Amino acid sequence: VEKKEEEKTVVQKKKDSQPAVFIPVDRLPEIQEARLKLPVLAEEQVIMEAVKENDCVVLCGETGSGKTTQVPQFLYEAGYASAGGMIGVTEPRRVAAVSMSHRVANEMNLSTGVVSYQIRYEGNVTKDTKIKFMTDGVLLKEIQKDFLLQKYSVIIIDEAHERSVYTDILIGLLSRIVALRNKKSLPMKLLIMSATLRVEDFTENKRLFRTPPPVIKVEARQFPVTVHFNKHTPMEDYTAEAFRKTCKIHRMLPPGGILVFLTGQAEVHSVCRRLRKAFPYRPNNMEHTETEDTSEELRKFKKQKQKKSVSLPRIDLDNYSALPVDEGDEDRQAGIDDSDDECSDLDLGDQPQDTEEKADPSIPLYVLPLYSLLAPEQQAKVFRPCPPGARLCVVATNVAETSLTIPGIKYVVDCGRVKKRFYDRVTGVSSFKVTWTSQASANQRAGRAGRTEAGHCYRLYSSAVFSDFSQFSEAEITRRPVDDLVLQMKDLNIEKVVNFPFPTPPSSEALMSAEQLLISLGALEEPPRQGRMVDMERARLSCPITPLGRAMAAFPVAPRYAKMLALGRQEGCMPYIITIVAAMTVREIFEELDRPVSSEEESSKLAGRKARFSQMRRLWAGQGQSLLLGDLMVMLGAVGACEFAGCTPKFCEENGLRYKAMLEIRRLRGQLTNAVNAVCSDAGVCVDNKMTPPTESQVVCLRQIVLAGLGDHLARRVQTEELLDSKWKNGYKTPLLDEPVFIHPSSALHKELPEFVVYQEIMETTKMYMRGVCAVQPDWIPKLLPQYCHFSGPEQSPAPWYCTLSGNVKCQQKSTFFRVGWKLPAIEM
Ligand code: ADP
Ligand code: MG
Repeated sequence: VEKKEEEKTVVQKKKDSQPAVFIPVDRLPEIQEARLKLPVLAEEQVIMEAVKENDCVVLCGETGSGKTTQVPQFLYEAGYASAGGMIGVTEPRRVAAVSMSHRVANEMNLSTGVVSYQIRYEGNVTKDTKIKFMTDGVLLKEIQKDFLLQKYSVIIIDEAHERSVYTDILIGLLSRIVALRNKKSLPMKLLIMSATLRVEDFTENKRLFRTPPPVIKVEARQFPVTVHFNKHTPMEDYTAEAFRKTCKIHRMLPPGGILVFLTGQAEVHSVCRRLRKAFPYRPNNMEHTETEDTSEELRKFKKQKQKKSVSLPRIDLDNYSALPVDEGDEDRQAGIDDSDDECSDLDLGDQPQDTEEKADPSIPLYVLPLYSLLAPEQQAKVFRPCPPGARLCVVATNVAETSLTIPGIKYVVDCGRVKKRFYDRVTGVSSFKVTWTSQASANQRAGRAGRTEAGHCYRLYSSAVFSDFSQFSEAEITRRPVDDLVLQMKDLNIEKVVNFPFPTPPSSEALMSAEQLLISLGALEEPPRQGRMVDMERARLSCPITPLGRAMAAFPVAPRYAKMLALGRQEGCMPYIITIVAAMTVREIFEELDRPVSSEEESSKLAGRKARFSQMRRLWAGQGQSLLLGDLMVMLGAVGACEFAGCTPKFCEENGLRYKAMLEIRRLRGQLTNAVNAVCSDAGVCVDNKMTPPTESQVVCLRQIVLAGLGDHLARRVQTEELLDSKWKNGYKTPLLDEPVFIHPSSALHKELPEFVVYQEIMETTKMYMRGVCAVQPDWIPKLLPQYCHFSGPEQSPAPWYCTLSGNVKCQQKSTFFRVGWKLPAIEM
């Protein structure tokens, strides 16, 4: 039916406006009825007029007002998808891209081949696709292939208020693309949608849009929400507090769905599990996740049992693997990803106040988890009607804050925290930390309770704490180094990144140091070293990308690590480099043993574990060449041993590894292997979790590759004659720091104290400690890092000599490491 309608419609394409047609959509009556209740429907006329008259339009509307589901339909009906181009919608989260595409297909009564999605690893786009939901990263990659985005007639940037780095860059890019398309008489429209009214960064930014785009506000019907603050703010155990509060609401308050906000997958599962235990409710017709539950319980139980009888695994000294302990565990692997290691049930369950919450189990509570990485079928459950007589309880991360609107929520429980990416300024490596959220986010969360009737929001923190929250969440781009971004943009042939119209620009120092690092890594062309100062400065900020840089841009890791991957195709080193890079990217793969202890008994237990774990780490480090690979060899050995044992929670527990980190490394290894094979089609690296230990010569090669990637993290041991001060004893000097840095006692190289090392990062605790240390040979430095060295003329003796094969004059050259003047051995050039 759909097709015929389209054929009948004559598309009139005016020069600079969009087709004036109407494509009918055959919706089910109940869908139509539900749509009419959405606030955004009242604004359809206004929105479509604005889109027709302007290249770019900003649309603000409270979460749940219908922006994401309805606006693509308005555009479709107005013929924007029938003139040959698609309607593209970007989401910062995969979960939203998938579930919104299903919802819109469903509302429009069209197949998923017409309303489709594309996320990083999967999609259902066909040649008939008219509306395409995708993650912002996917669209960025498409821009890399076709800068004009000719497949699209409209791009909707959804959730722009989240200010994710990719969203920000997309808006900057699209402001140019739209202008270019109009110039070429291939008009394209841009719609920016935000759940908050704070859009000045887009509208008032003259570099972005010369004429400010119109802002349309959708007035949402919102019922009053009463906010209740806690008197006290639990600092640590907010999941336990969330559990207690939810139990209380369920037992004492009138019907209405409960939405609990936590920070991550592990917490979500922990609280779901406890709620299900407290209110067991499993009628046969409910496809509740019993399997998940029982296996989880079983695993916990096993783990508990294992804790009692921990023994050293048998070790084969020639092979770094511990022999497989329990083959059977591998089968349970598949469903294990969500298991919760950070917040164990045991610790929480022992608290006496919990028992009083084990309420009357006859009140049914229908508990559902919701977070980004949850399988789509599981996610979709939150939108289905709750089983009759039961109360819906969704335990979610901040995906439920704005991306998804869950029907029927009357109570919100807000832990006030959010898990955020933090970037290490020294290394550019990212990590996740739980911090307080912003006032704007907390208010968004509260608003979820007032969608269908008046509601209540229970904040698990005091009003004093709330008033200390920052008003808005900062744009992510200002909080992190930008070397990866600059590389991606250069890959888009945006050479002058400083001139790029960022909605919020990163600092010029951040941009400058990113370019400098990328030049050193060989990802960007070296700027001229001569000429006028101003010209040189200018050139330094607009270096084009090199072929190596393009290869590096294809790897989803920090540029230093991408360089290692780009060099990994030597002597069969690739699987090892992939593993080392994955382990460095995941970080914190070893159990933390230096935590404070509360009792004598605990402390002696911990000491025992510590001794055993350091024994394991010594074993993984090996001897000779492998020992010189240092902490990276320990990582490699740990991953290798863990995979040989089937990557079980038991193995990790017994050997001081973080199980979740190991699973993440496994996933990342798979992803990096695919990327490597895609970049060089003949690389032929297999995805095999198990690997035999590297040979001596491979280890030498690995050390050189690591040096090439971490060249700006070189440190040199202070020589005895240079000892100025006792504080420098066993200390290392780095080019950038005035203070000595040290090899941590837990490092594999603590006793070796090699003259030259590279490190992954520096952590400051009692001293400045290098982590992830690897020994390098001084004569490699001028060869592998010539960009960091000053070369002096040929040595007098032996005299320069003539190479008969190549015809080159060969000579010995001496060099120094430039910033610090470290003398390096003369090498043949
Ligand atoms: P916005 O983007 O403005 O936050 P949405 O378009 O996401 O709003 O949501 C509009 C309405 O559609 C909400 O009331 C929501 O409950 C409903 N909705 C969204 N997805 C689904 C779904 N999969 N099933 C049922 N209702 C849904
Ligand atoms: Mg939305």
